[in-house]
Amino acid sequence: MGLAVPTSILVGTERAAQLGILVRSGEALQKLQDVQVVAVDKTGTLTEGHPSLTDIQVLNDIPQDKVIRMAAALERQSEHPIAKAIVAYAEENFHELPKATSFLTTTGMGASALVEDEQVDIGAERFMAHLGIETAQAKDIFDAFGAEAKTPVYVAIDGELCAVLAVADPIKPTAKPAIDALKSRGIKVAMLTGDNTKTANAVAHVLGIDTVKAEILPKDKVDEVERLKAKGNVAFIGDGINDAPALAAADIGLAVGTGTDVAIETSDVILLHGQMDTVLSAIRLSRKTMRNIWQNLFWAFGYNVLLLPIAAGVLLPSFGIMLSPMLAAGAMAFSSVFVLGNALRLRWAAAS
Ligand code: ADP
Ligand code: MG
Repeated sequence: MGLAVPTSILVGTERAAQLGILVRSGEALQKLQDVQVVAVDKTGTLTEGHPSLTDIQVLNDIPQDKVIRMAAALERQSEHPIAKAIVAYAEENFHELPKATSFLTTTGMGASALVEDEQVDIGAERFMAHLGIETAQAKDIFDAFGAEAKTPVYVAIDGELCAVLAVADPIKPTAKPAIDALKSRGIKVAMLTGDNTKTANAVAHVLGIDTVKAEILPKDKVDEVERLKAKGNVAFIGDGINDAPALAAADIGLAVGTGTDVAIETSDVILLHGQMDTVLSAIRLSRKTMRNIWQNLFWAFGYNVLLLPIAAGVLLPSFGIMLSPMLAAGAMAFSSVFVLGNALRLRWAAAS
């Protein structure tokens, strides 16, 4: 009977690993079974997380080349995927970039630096609002990019709005099947992102996600996860860039495997290959493992309940039946064999 729980967990965990799901604890494997709400980060989880610069709309008479070179000089100091897209474009088109100093990043908002004695700020609408830079004149351009599921950012030089850049981050081909599978199982799906509302809604629309929380700061993702917990057990799936706190706050945190080390630290489950299409397999496998544990406990316990009195000799007076110590030992071993055999069936648990 002592084998009933650990063997099932062990075999279940091993099977999960074969399917590209690294489960970090027995508890995590248990908790997955009754996930009712799945909250998903957008950038890097539903999308590739490697956007490229697709549009440059200059708003005043500053030459386009200058805008890009100044922006790239600043973004070279940033780790953000948007920054990488801008830098990649600039490096392809220009030999040398100016130097940036006094770099400052404002989490979930944008970044600033001094480039050739000029103040450069790049970021979301709320970042410009925070800096007191007027954006009304470019709002239509900004929103139009968002509607195309691109992420627009404003560029300001010396406190004056001068361009809107847009980066496009392709949706992972496995995202839609994963969302569909979860929904068909009656699991609610919500998207949490720091990206702007128009972009988030456009991506959510393509994927069929109807609950969207956009333009939220990383720390607010935690509050949102807490709020969702009122609806049931919440799993959060993220890539770990800016969402490690949410991974830790959820009942169960799943990191897509290209994520940063910190995400892997704060997560309970790692979905390898950077894809979330195995999330439903993980939930199903958890349910199968738990069922397997109950079967083991039921049979091992039932078997003992049945055979112990016989071994004690209750059938001896009326039927003359008595378990010889040798048979009893064999019977004991058989209960372990049964448990092992039943647990090993999990090795062939189907992926879908
Ligand atoms: P997500 O939840 O999508 O991963 P983040 O919280 O990382 O989003 O960023 C939210 C928003 O802040 C971005 O969509 C962008 O508008 C702005 N932002 C953050 N860092 C930068 C940067 N280095 N350059 C330009 N914009 C940035
Ligand atoms: Mg992300």
